[in-house]
Amino acid sequence: MQKRILITGAAGFLGSHLCDRFMAEGYEVIGMDNLLTGSLDNIQHLFPEKAFQFHHHDVSTFVHVPGELDYILHFASPASPIDYLKMPIQTMKVGSLGTHNLLGLAKAKNARVLIASTSEVYGDPTVHPQTEEYWGNVNPIGPRGVYDEAKRFQEAITMAYHTFHGLETRIVRIFNTYGPRMRLNDGRALPAFLHQAITGKDLTVFGDGSQTRSFCYVSDLVEGIYRLLLSDYHLPVNIGNPDEITIKEFAEEIISFTGCDQKIIYQDLPKDDPKQRQPDITKAREILGWEPRVSRREGLKKTYDYFKKVIDKQQAAEAVS
Ligand code: UDP
Repeated sequence: MQKRILITGAAGFLGSHLCDRFMAEGYEVIGMDNLLTGSLDNIQHLFPEKAFQFHHHDVSTFVHVPGELDYILHFASPASPIDYLKMPIQTMKVGSLGTHNLLGLAKAKNARVLIASTSEVYGDPTVHPQTEEYWGNVNPIGPRGVYDEAKRFQEAITMAYHTFHGLETRIVRIFNTYGPRMRLNDGRALPAFLHQAITGKDLTVFGDGSQTRSFCYVSDLVEGIYRLLLSDYHLPVNIGNPDEITIKEFAEEIISFTGCDQKIIYQDLPKDDPKQRQPDITKAREILGWEPRVSRREGLKKTYDYFKKVIDKQQAAEAVS
């Protein structure tokens, strides 16, 4: 029997890649998105497929899906610091009310649900690298609080549905991920640097650039999520690439990779910006037999090609108008 899966945030960066993966695995995929930050461009190629359908809907309000469901992936949420600063209430609602609605739907359909959590639950971590046992260091009323606390609530209510209702739940803690279909202007470091390098602008490093991140290529992340969904492990699992780099070195790497001759300019560090971030992926290795395979060099090349194509298209359209 063909399995049916609901993917929320389907028109977003991660959601659209997940739609592709489950379509390729032979599932019937129901994509849902309110298109607040997602774009239909990311899933346009799926519309002719019989096994794909799309619902334009905000999961913060009651979610109705006719028929049976085997799985639900909850990936709807603004996910870049700039986005959740601009949309703090929607960010809180989709992580809290949206998750509640999807857990209710999963219970009604007897479906297994996987929710997208984040390394942001660790806040500005005092434990390094971050293991799943670490409880985090989050400022609830800071600018990131709307995202971080919504995601922490999301984990709590998901565990409550698991223990109280016996629902089959999975929780993935996603670390910084990149790849084609990221929005060019979502304010994140990687799209900002690539966009700046391609369009001849100086690269904006926030603070002194000594803060670290660890970037995972999207196909690796999708593989980890796929394995987690099909596993029998209900506690949170970190999925990310432990290859850690300072943001300054990362900007330098992009300058040398693209061969551009721009320089780095320094701007104010946003409030509560985590100083370091690196996933401990022991659990993913042991439980899922998973580890990242795509190097930053290889991943950057694919992402660069995508950005270049999109920017060339934009520039050509501007030249005509
Ligand atoms: N950052 C930067 N320049 C930019 C955008 C981001 O130096 O133009 C920094 C940001 O302050 C953070 C890191 O890069 O320290 C990663 O930021 P991003 O927004 O990609 O994700 P975060 O991991 O903070 O959620």
